[in-house]
Amino acid sequence: MVITDIDDKIIKRSWEESVSPTVLARMYEEEFQKDMLSLKVIPPAVYLRVTENVPQIVAFIERIIQNGHAYATKQGDVYFDIQSIGERYGKFLGAVDAQSEPGSSDKRDSRDFALWKRSKPQEPFWESPWGRGRPGWHIECSTIASSVFGSQLDIHSGGIDLAFPHHENEIAQSEAYHQCGQWANYFLHSGHLHLKGSAEKMSKSLKNYITIKDFLQSYSANEFRMFCLLTKYRSAIDYSDGSMSVARSSLATISTFTHDAQNYMKGQLQCSAVQEGLLWERLAETKATVVSALADDFDTPRAISAVMNLVYHGNCQLQPITKSDGMARSPAVFGAILSYIREVLDMFGISLLDKKEANVEDCSGSLEGVVEQLTRFRSEVRAFALAHQHNTAPGSGSKPRLYPERIPLLKACDTLRNDLAPLGVLIKDRGTNSTWEVTRRQQNVLDKDQEESS
Ligand SMILES: [Zn+2]
Repeated sequence: MVITDIDDKIIKRSWEESVSPTVLARMYEEEFQKDMLSLKVIPPAVYLRVTENVPQIVAFIERIIQNGHAYATKQGDVYFDIQSIGERYGKFLGAVDAQSEPGSSDKRDSRDFALWKRSKPQEPFWESPWGRGRPGWHIECSTIASSVFGSQLDIHSGGIDLAFPHHENEIAQSEAYHQCGQWANYFLHSGHLHLKGSAEKMSKSLKNYITIKDFLQSYSANEFRMFCLLTKYRSAIDYSDGSMSVARSSLATISTFTHDAQNYMKGQLQCSAVQEGLLWERLAETKATVVSALADDFDTPRAISAVMNLVYHGNCQLQPITKSDGMARSPAVFGAILSYIREVLDMFGISLLDKKEANVEDCSGSLEGVVEQLTRFRSEVRAFALAHQHNTAPGSGSKPRLYPERIPLLKACDTLRNDLAPLGVLIKDRGTNSTWEVTRRQQNVLDKDQEESS
């Protein structure tokens, strides 16, 4: 679930540009969704907007007051009463520097935080039992999450800067509302993305950022994912061309291995005998390491390093030689390795097929050129094979016939035509000339099915 909406920055910009904050918020929301899709992030099941949930937020606050954990002030603010939960406040206090909320002096405790704020002039406002105002920063997440997931969350995520006070306060108010001992079972706090050499996280105000669109001009979504996987999610991560090239070359290594292993499996790459037992062992070890790394707080760098190690051992066994007649071959173990690597990458949202598929799309134009050249070459060979012997002996009366030694060429031409048909390349021979067309194989199959059923 993702919660989006107007925030203080949007309100400020809407004043500067005299655009409604709702319109601005929708623009950012759309941009965000597009950016996430371009990074191949699976969309959440629900997007919910705070402005469409204000009555629910007001009701949520009322219940917290009834439960004895919040109070309204004469000025029309509502604060959470930290003292009412005692020792239970402060789970994430040590996680980052504590900052107490600036604000009115009518708080009972300096740590008390706002659930509802009376509106200042020019600010958007909603009606409430405490007068016109707007929700506090933290309450929206508790209310909306509770309306979708009920009284308990399994995993709650967010950037490390949100641990305190935001998540701390979400926990306090959610447990006060639900009267439960543990609202969320796990918090995943991710580290920040830094531009290399910059101590601060990427942020618009500091101008030390790169947009996702600019990034995707130089790198792919797969490369971005690999870059993220090479660092633990909790740690800060440095973005630079250097770190991106490490990610890129890791993917290239996997991709080259995949290619070689496939060629070996097809018998196109001749290799010296493979130590198959050793590879089966490495594969089992890798599987165990990946599971234990991921079970250890999502240690993705260790999981990726195990996969790279497997690729290394696979590559060591693929030693090309020129002649391997009669050599024992071990395609099964490479099949098992490839399918495992694909499974792991797929789990991380990286698809090795992407590039290939994209290439097929890209070169559908040049495919026609290749077929044209191929057909021309085949036509010449056929014409040569179809040439007739002329018996020069006068009055022999025998009919012209094919040169017997050229008949295998003719057969090879027929085989090529038959083999290309299922690949969607249709060659038709008309005398010594040939025509061709590229069709979609799926379309052929469909047409055939229809023919058969009609
Ligand atoms: Zn939140």
